[in-house]
Amino acid sequence: EVVVLRLGHRPGRDNRMTTHVGLTARALGADRVVIAGSASGSKETIEDITDRFGGPFDVELTDSPRAVIREWGGTTVHLTMYGLPIQDIEDDVRRDLTDGPLLIVVGAEKVPFDVYERAEYNVSVTNQPHSEVAGLAVFLDRLFEGQELAREWENATHRVVPKETGKKVDPVDET
Ligand code: SAM
Repeated sequence: EVVVLRLGHRPGRDNRMTTHVGLTARALGADRVVIAGSASGSKETIEDITDRFGGPFDVELTDSPRAVIREWGGTTVHLTMYGLPIQDIEDDVRRDLTDGPLLIVVGAEKVPFDVYERAEYNVSVTNQPHSEVAGLAVFLDRLFEGQELAREWENATHRVVPKETGKKVDPVDET
């Protein structure tokens, strides 16, 4: 199981980014995202997308994101520009995932230091400052070695038909 935890959500200001963390987690192969209770609008948006384009994917709200880290019964990866390069540790993380669940932590504003200490891996996607959405996308793609790109979706009502030009969305025939 791969779960993404979004830390440090600031209501209003971070709404869109928190939604995008969830949508990116879903699209690129995670099983679940855990977001702050104050981000309930993001939960609705992500669930609407899952209803339409398929899953399985779960969205959970928490009032104590740090407790999620404390109580996690598996490996924890914290994405940070200060961490060790992803290309150096991806094999180790992949091996750990065969043994148990993986929690991927991304921040918004400054991440408290104890998160760095609790994580088994502090991982950087380059040592340059960028975004939790970009960091998460590259991390998941590396973790799954690109296989998530060809994933099948279950219980979708709609499916995009890839086209060279234009947009085509078909209703899914359940039969
Ligand atoms: N300045 C904040 C700090 O020092 O903790 C981080 C702000 S950054 C806009 C928000 C989040 O994006 C970070 O918490 C981290 O999860 C992610 N992030 C940004 N750059 C990253 C990088 N180069 N590698 C991995 N994650 C990154």
